[in-house]
Amino acid sequence: MTPRGWAVLTLAALVLALLVVGALLVPWSRPPAPRADQLAALRDLPADQVARGRALQAALRPGRYTGLAVGLLVALLLGLTPLGARLVELAGRPFGDHWIARAVLGGIAVVLVADLLTLPFAAWRQSVLTRYGLATQGWGGWTVDLLKSYALSAVLAATVLLGFYTVTRLAPRWWWAFGAAGAAGLVVLLSFVLPVLVEPVFNRFTPMEQGPLRTELTALAARDGVPVRDVLVADASRRTRAVNAYVSGLGPTRRVVVYDTLLREATPAEVTSVVAHELGHARDRDVWTGTLTGALGAAAAVVALYLVGSWTPLLRRAGVDSIAEPRAFALLIALVTVVGLVAGPVQALVSRRIEARADAHALALTGDPATFEAMQRRLAGVNLADPDPPRAEYLWFASHPSTVERMAAARAYAREAGR
Ligand SMILES: [Zn+2]
Repeated sequence: MTPRGWAVLTLAALVLALLVVGALLVPWSRPPAPRADQLAALRDLPADQVARGRALQAALRPGRYTGLAVGLLVALLLGLTPLGARLVELAGRPFGDHWIARAVLGGIAVVLVADLLTLPFAAWRQSVLTRYGLATQGWGGWTVDLLKSYALSAVLAATVLLGFYTVTRLAPRWWWAFGAAGAAGLVVLLSFVLPVLVEPVFNRFTPMEQGPLRTELTALAARDGVPVRDVLVADASRRTRAVNAYVSGLGPTRRVVVYDTLLREATPAEVTSVVAHELGHARDRDVWTGTLTGALGAAAAVVALYLVGSWTPLLRRAGVDSIAEPRAFALLIALVTVVGLVAGPVQALVSRRIEARADAHALALTGDPATFEAMQRRLAGVNLADPDPPRAEYLWFASHPSTVERMAAARAYAREAGR
């Protein structure tokens, strides 16, 4: 069989594996959150809180969509015309057109152009968040964060670009196989190291102070059968008033993190409710599920790029001879951008289902739907969320069930449990 035949077979196997993982690990049937309860919950929220949340979301909307459109246009313009190839050539010229310069500098140049053209929209978003009192960081801090993330992306991008184009050179017929394995391995590696290597670049993490709350949370984790080495507090208040918590990492790097803003704004019972939700993620191995689907998806993407990349009209549009050469990097980015946009709603749906399961876990573990609901109310109030966002936006972007859905789930649970 030819490499191309093997690639088709591999892609089919990867897609099948993704479907199996999706069918087995994603909780497709969600706990009930009747619409009638949602509407009742919406009526129970203070009208001025709902209005303020909606006003912020409306203020963010134009910039978000224009930014998305500009990002897509730039990707298509660079990838589907010879402009991207020109840019890569230009970046390699001072280095005698050496392939490493084209691969690394050219690749970074393509990403940087897209980043810089969408930068005004990021700044605009920050100005809106500041106006609404949600962002607490001045422009200096914002710029430092931005430069840090550029630097981190550049290091990661340089490594990936160098690795990828070395493989396409060494194995011109089989690079897709090595590339797919490398992409999957990178996703797994990043899941392990992000919490210890990347998160500390942006925030300081300190173990939660000894005290009744810490004792309560540790006992909760023990009762839940989830070994948690530590509950960490992130100094999120340096850039936002928003409250949040999350789990990240795998195995030895797994941690539960709460924002310092959460400890400041919420009652201890509400913090317990949030941590119970995070324990649900840990217990159901949601980080593993995300990592596994991410790894399979990345591998499938590499193989699909190889197959699509043999389509001559596409290569001719981009002014390149092969998808595997550095000059075709902008074409790769264009394809990945389009696929990312299409895959967005599916990812959001999967995420919402997983979040709804973690909510159900929090309700069962604490047996305290009233506090759970109070917490949802507070989350929406402090974070200025739209408690019941427009349907299309919700389907496209929402990674969590809406506030009214989460409140309705608590009410349905309370009825069921007779509380
Ligand atoms: Zn969650």
